Amino acid sequence: MVPKRKVLPRSSPEILKKFIPQVIEMKYQGMPYDEMMPCPDCGSEDIARHDTVERLFCMTIAEDGFRQVRVRVKRFRCKGCGHIFDGKKPFYDGCAYGAPIVDLCLALAASNPYHRVESILLNYGIQVDRDTVRLYSILFREGAKEYPGIPVMTMRASASTCSRYSSASMMSKS
Ligand SMILES: [Zn+2]
Repeated sequence: MVPKRKVLPRSSPEILKKFIPQVIEMKYQGMPYDEMMPCPDCGSEDIARHDTVERLFCMTIAEDGFRQVRVRVKRFRCKGCGHIFDGKKPFYDGCAYGAPIVDLCLALAASNPYHRVESILLNYGIQVDRDTVRLYSILFREGAKEYPGIPVMTMRASASTCSRYSSASMMSKS
């Protein structure tokens, strides 16, 4: 799916719409994740390095349009069953965007309607459409209620493949 092109609203404070995408890009653009994990299919730890793939971490909005922030994730091959899988990476299962971005969506969705979350993120220079916000809220329904507040400046990478929302430490409660 290709996101619709968007521009930054004029009301958005310069510091947010420029600074946040820059920080995200500096921290995550091309960041390698190469930690091994057991085969998710058969549990075997007899695995071999396979290759490295780029995974979309998030879309930021610059003055000239969208910019993709991608991390580099090592893939492994199970010697037992042949399954090829991603090593540890900063994503939750079933989420296209990185875990800190998902956390941010959930925190905002706890006290805002989805379309409002979309426009708040737009003001932060981050592109996540309301359907995606809604999807994350449904996936992590309990988590979204537990963490009201806006933890923008406390975003941290979670180098794990958490199967459910369990990152209380990433959030600062307001
Ligand atoms: Zn296997």
